[in-house]
Amino acid sequence: KANRKFHPEDTVVKVGNTQVGGGNLTVMAGPCSVESREQILAVAHAVKAAGATMLRGGAFKPRTSPYSFQGMGPQGLDLLREAKEETGLPIVTEIMDPNDLKYFRDIDVLQVGARNMQNFDLLKALGKTDQPILLKRGLSATYEELLMSAEYIMSEGNPNVILCERGIRTFETYTRNTLDVAAVPVLRKLTHLPIIIDPSHSGGRRELVVPLSLAGIAAGADGIEVEVHNDPAHALSDGPQQLLPEAFEVLMAQLKTVHAAV
Ligand code: PEP
Ligand code: MN
Repeated sequence: KANRKFHPEDTVVKVGNTQVGGGNLTVMAGPCSVESREQILAVAHAVKAAGATMLRGGAFKPRTSPYSFQGMGPQGLDLLREAKEETGLPIVTEIMDPNDLKYFRDIDVLQVGARNMQNFDLLKALGKTDQPILLKRGLSATYEELLMSAEYIMSEGNPNVILCERGIRTFETYTRNTLDVAAVPVLRKLTHLPIIIDPSHSGGRRELVVPLSLAGIAAGADGIEVEVHNDPAHALSDGPQQLLPEAFEVLMAQLKTVHAAV
């Protein structure tokens, strides 16, 4: 179902009154984690003003260490709803467990994180909804494996899948992951699904967010998912890679220029 061979025209995924794919520039921006009412509302207003098309923020966090902040859970989702009400931005947030679906019924885009790309029970459960799914590439997943995970969702009846290249694990340690820019044109050829890139979790460093974002858009990506925080130095997760709202504003202008050129 994800294969371009049997579905030549590009899929456009509708999210609220915005569209992902079809030549639109999608920018999902917001903090790694929802941390407080003040934080999420401040960031939501800032990214909205700068031109983001959706608000991202994690409430259920897949942390490497069990001792790290695990997210605010359902309370975090309520804060995202409040931010959506105030800004009109659709929200994107991660679901880790199919048993949590009851909390996510009105969420605009359900994110499947890299660590859950092959959580097949989760994928099948998401396939039974009609909610848009942002499926992130696993840390060491091939294109074929990513597409098969999309197939798990689509074969259950949900065609609304957006793919995300978020960097893969390589021998390099300077960067958190290695953004695989080639994933964009290759996936474009293999599938009709929209493709975005994540410059935050790939580089893992604030100063790499602009170049990686521009590279992804230049390679033909439909957009980016990027982390923005009002106080990255005190962020409860991923501080070093989160942009301040002012830097995000600069990035938005550059993105539009490159997007218009491709
Ligand atoms: C995220 O986007 O919050 C996240 C945890 O990303 P990934 O699953 O790509 O590591
Ligand atoms: Mn993060």
